[in-house]
Amino acid sequence: MPDQKADVLMMEEMASMAIEGIGKAFTLHKLWEAPDRDRLIDTLSPRLRAIAAGGPVHDHVDRSLMMKFPKLEIISSFGVGYDHIDAKWAGEHGIIVTNTPEVLNEEVADTALGLLLCTVRELPQAERYLRAGQWANGVEYRLTASLRGRRAGVVGLGRIGKAIARRLEAFGLPVAYHGRNAQAGVPYRYYPDLVEMAREVDVMIVITPGGAATRHLINAKVLEALGPNGIFINVSRGSVVDQDALIAALKERKILSAGLDVYANEPNVPPELLAMDNVVLLPHVGSGSAPTRDAMNQLVVDNLLAWAAGKKPLTPVPETPWPPKRA
Ligand code: NDP
Repeated sequence: MPDQKADVLMMEEMASMAIEGIGKAFTLHKLWEAPDRDRLIDTLSPRLRAIAAGGPVHDHVDRSLMMKFPKLEIISSFGVGYDHIDAKWAGEHGIIVTNTPEVLNEEVADTALGLLLCTVRELPQAERYLRAGQWANGVEYRLTASLRGRRAGVVGLGRIGKAIARRLEAFGLPVAYHGRNAQAGVPYRYYPDLVEMAREVDVMIVITPGGAATRHLINAKVLEALGPNGIFINVSRGSVVDQDALIAALKERKILSAGLDVYANEPNVPPELLAMDNVVLLPHVGSGSAPTRDAMNQLVVDNLLAWAAGKKPLTPVPETPWPPKRA
């Protein structure tokens, strides 16, 4: 049985499944409901060992917050991306960070392909056209670009990237990929140079982690190389793309169109993007189906339960290997 008395501090309001699951096994403290957040943090400071993080607005769990809890052992985070947590520092200080990988791979890949189809065939625009009564007025929707004959480049051929690549293959598109390393046993062409890959493909789908290492990986040079027939899809993090450069490339028709699920400063979407007809914009819904979100929330709870039972958490991130290194 897990330690019934262990405290868990939840940073942001999470789904009821996580709140109830954690509340059953632990003493749950809801930071977002605290009339005085600093006071709650001070009260928990000497004894807190566990944090649940990553609600709808990703709360930053930086080193200054972690330092407030000298007994902190685990941060169970919602979502596969954990760029809102200083995981390197956590690992160096014996704190395990867990995320929720794998259970969302197929969902996010579905979203990426849906976004690609919507972008290339202008399906949301065509639907708006019908609803506005223009079809009924006897005017056909304009002919669009096509997925036929295109070559695709996946930036970040990880768990989700591979699920996207399988779908692209099924749609008949040759696939290439870029990452820091070539991968053994992968049937796709590897490009160590992103600009070179951009020149060779006319669909680019980005699905890397966020954070400092990938910040503005997609810049004006990459977009220019993708070219005037290029379709750009981002389901990774807004930080991976130089958003101003993307807006400029779309305005100047240096690329054909873009489908975006993520933005630099969510939930704010630049008015320039909102005004463009050659973009399809989703509100960060990559993993956003009820069953997949349930699986992710359950994993947040299960990681805490495993830790409380003295076992290895199910999905620690690579920067914080188990067993933790305590100084
Ligand atoms: P993985 O860790 O399995 O894959 C990440 C891939 O990115 C790897 O192939 C890695 O290859 C590559 N990569 C990492 N750093 C770099 C870099 N600096 N330059 C180029 N490539 C890099 O992660 P997942 O597939 O599980 O998830 C990927 C990301 O997708 C998440 O971190 C999250 O940000 C995003 N995501 C978005 C969602 C949404 O709702 N839109 C939902 C879920 C995830 P290599 O090591 O060879 O560089």
